[in-house]
Amino acid sequence: MTTFPGRYREISVTDVDVPLEAGPLRALLTSRPVYRRSDHMVVRRGGRTALVRLVRGPGTGLFSPLEDVELLAGPDDTVYLHRPELDAGVPSALLAAAAEVPGVRCVVVEGAYGHVSFVLDPAPVRVHVLDVVPPHPAKLLDQLRRVLETADDLPGVELVPHVVELADLLPPEPRGAYLLPCRGGGMEVRGAAIAYLDEVPPRADWTLLGCARSRAIHDFFYDEPVRQIDTCPRALARAADVPPGEVLVTKCCLFEDRNEIDGHTVVTPWGASFGNLREALSTAVRIATVAEPAGRRP
Ligand SMILES: [Zn+2]
Repeated sequence: MTTFPGRYREISVTDVDVPLEAGPLRALLTSRPVYRRSDHMVVRRGGRTALVRLVRGPGTGLFSPLEDVELLAGPDDTVYLHRPELDAGVPSALLAAAAEVPGVRCVVVEGAYGHVSFVLDPAPVRVHVLDVVPPHPAKLLDQLRRVLETADDLPGVELVPHVVELADLLPPEPRGAYLLPCRGGGMEVRGAAIAYLDEVPPRADWTLLGCARSRAIHDFFYDEPVRQIDTCPRALARAADVPPGEVLVTKCCLFEDRNEIDGHTVVTPWGASFGNLREALSTAVRIATVAEPAGRRP
């Protein structure tokens, strides 16, 4: 199980000149009181680092006697990273740093504001994200990443991207005419004639490359039925390769202001606010962490 420091606890950092082993550390550290909000201590010696848990005795003031220490990770299992661009108070940010050193049990991070924190036995909650491009970068994925950078009340999350290139939905050598929703995405279809729905061009024998909302707009302006390649991420998500029990976040062209839960899928509006996205992530984490051994994503 992943261990992070308690959110309202402090981690002290101490340079010592005894071996980074349980016995010598216990002898040294139990000889002095500790601040009452300290539960963990990062101890360093000669460029090496270890992590101990502090077992505090009863105390009423700012300091408590230290009754014992438990070596959680010795120097062979611990690395110390300087990542001044990263907020070490955010579990997902700590896990992103830990991902740089795969296989290491204990990663101590000195992040922004000189704040030091750690993650022990990193095991993020995996949240799959399905989005479409162009435009680049994939907006939903990019915005969820930005939300996670400050999500200090969520457990550590790793976003698993499923980015669908709209061009891959086309036949290998597209011919004829395609109708795109607008010019905004910068999408090209080589070898085919392109028109844009928002310009309401004269009707041609085209294939609409768009979502259900584009289809509805098309039907408003034109009488005849249209061939369509559905680009709605919600529809594409049904074919995403997501292991049973894991959760996926995507967006839908038809949603305007609220999220919806569909089994193990959380769907946000196409133009989701950061509030929507924050809520989508916490919903996804809740679904993913509910004990559900036989859980399957429909
Ligand atoms: Zn949709």
